[in-house]
Amino acid sequence: MPSHGDGCRFMDSMKIGVLALQGAVAEHVAVLRAIGVEPVEVRLPAHLDGVDGLIIPGGESTTMRRLIERWGLRQPIIDLAARGAPLFGTCAGMIVLAREIVGDEAPILPLLDITVERNAFGRQLDSFEAELAVPVLGGTPVHAVFIRAPIVDRVGPDVDVMARLEDGRVVAVRQRNVIATAFHPELAGETRFHRLVATMAAEHADPGEGVGRRPHPTRRGQQGR
Ligand code: GLN
Repeated sequence: MPSHGDGCRFMDSMKIGVLALQGAVAEHVAVLRAIGVEPVEVRLPAHLDGVDGLIIPGGESTTMRRLIERWGLRQPIIDLAARGAPLFGTCAGMIVLAREIVGDEAPILPLLDITVERNAFGRQLDSFEAELAVPVLGGTPVHAVFIRAPIVDRVGPDVDVMARLEDGRVVAVRQRNVIATAFHPELAGETRFHRLVATMAAEHADPGEGVGRRPHPTRRGQQGR
């Protein structure tokens, strides 16, 4: 278990959910605890009540797709994002959030205006690690662990690129309150992405600023925002 240090801690009342259907859940839970945020494992829509943000971990996006549908989590997660709460997807979580997936697959929770290609590094380079500059997180590079990772092929006009590989390919993005990385920061003792998510959660007091919010008269739960 890597040490996360205990620099700045967030209010103990802050709760951030980790989608716990499948995949690398425990590592995100550990990072949240290490920075003083209460993790909530989310398996059912009711578990989203009172969370200030949500992490969608790595794993297998096809399995997550099936379980998100089966447990009725799709619209509640979209509503959480529309209220301005931060969402953070790592690896398969990035695929879950992408508006377009290369090939025939329909999007899962289309909250991020990117196109992703699954398993983009092929069999020879199944897994690798890289030191990545992520300027918004400060000068120290991020030690990024890539495991059968996707790559971002297209970035929409409202999407900020947070990090690229040396060859220029995009591996971390942010669109307002939605962040996604093609790699796993949580596997290398990196806490800065989670701290950013917690900071965004603390600031999201102003509802209705989130991605996915559109005037839509038939959508429930957004009247009066
Ligand atoms: N290859 C997986 C997928 O396509 C993602 C792998 C991961 O999350 N580490 O869903």
